[in-house]
Amino acid sequence: ADGFDVERVRCDFPILARPVRGKPLVYLDSAATTQRPRQVVEAMARFFDQENANVHRGVHFLSEKATASYEGARERVRRFLNARESREIVFVRGTTEAINLVAFTFGKQRVGAGDEVLVSAMEHHSNIVPWQMLCEEKGAKLVVAPIDDRGVLLLDELERRIGPRTRLVAVSHVSNALGTVNPVKRVVELAHARGVPVLVDGAQGAPHVPADVQDLGCDFYAFSGHKIYGPTGIGVLYGRAEHLEAMPPWQGGGDMILSVAFEKTIYNQIPYKFEAGTPNMAGAVGLGAALDWLEALPREAAWRHEDEVLAYGTEQLGRIPGLRILGTAPGKAAVLSFVMDDIHPHDIGTVLDREGIAIRTGHHCAQPLMARLGVPATARASLGIYNTTAEIDALAAGLEKVRRMFA
Ligand code: PMP
Repeated sequence: ADGFDVERVRCDFPILARPVRGKPLVYLDSAATTQRPRQVVEAMARFFDQENANVHRGVHFLSEKATASYEGARERVRRFLNARESREIVFVRGTTEAINLVAFTFGKQRVGAGDEVLVSAMEHHSNIVPWQMLCEEKGAKLVVAPIDDRGVLLLDELERRIGPRTRLVAVSHVSNALGTVNPVKRVVELAHARGVPVLVDGAQGAPHVPADVQDLGCDFYAFSGHKIYGPTGIGVLYGRAEHLEAMPPWQGGGDMILSVAFEKTIYNQIPYKFEAGTPNMAGAVGLGAALDWLEALPREAAWRHEDEVLAYGTEQLGRIPGLRILGTAPGKAAVLSFVMDDIHPHDIGTVLDREGIAIRTGHHCAQPLMARLGVPATARASLGIYNTTAEIDALAAGLEKVRRMFA
């Protein structure tokens, strides 16, 4: 796209230059995890080499440094999400942990017997199973808003399912299996009109579409560092301050307390109330560096680039006889899920791997979605900011090879 130099971006990712099975790597598995630019690795190395100490505790120089870096990363995330206050940003391990945190604090407090939690039919298991566990414990019910055959969330059906017993709506921003971009802002409007809070699973949203929590109006937003060019083991739960303040703590331990006596413990303020134990300090620093790196790029042009590569991929794959793309929602992002006649997705993945092409095959942690689409599994090529149309050509050539082999 104009104003976006993908070759320059690729230079920041040493791994993209390595050969795989004697071929140039074609990395099309960013929905599983992205690669990290060297700036992230360098920021983490700098933290360990120059600042490492435990945060929030020591009076000494390094502890102050480490605390400043860790809290600086929190402020960096606040800016990225356009949250009102940095105390609305809780560091967690990832999206999965963020959703579990909400389920077992907010959910535990708000959901009772006969109540309902509403999710969509395209959710990742991490936005299904915690709610199922909660509902089972409480005698509540998990309700599902359906999608159409293109993978579009049926908003009127969702609206009809928001009833007097609905305690929370939990939807993905972008589907990891189909690429559907959900109209989250509209979902929030519908839910809030009935006084129902909304959690957004932003694992695929934050990396690919604008994630402005004030604009979306959501109550909670969760994402993972490793899917947005940052490190593994760090993620974010954004929660409106009034919710976080009213929620009970989840894990107990150091850092989440103000004072402990055997008679009574006073919990710390938010966000620390939800960060028991020594946090992933280097991970937070790495995530901050990833967001610095990402937002230093011309973002509009970067989004346009991803959309162009996706459109090109849709067109090229559409030319392959017997190949069917699953997920054709208008305005979708970053994901090409497909099946090929009688060829098992696993075989597709294996043949492509020999060509140095990395895709994912299987149910993509969305088994109920696979059941809805009537397939056990798909092959999925997913894009990052560094992918090129030339890599799509390599994918298409690889798929032609697959087709000939199994014809
Ligand atoms: N939700 C979606 C939509 C995802 O794509 C993923 C990761 N595949 C998750 C949740 C879970 O993220 P994590 O494994 O980083 O906790």
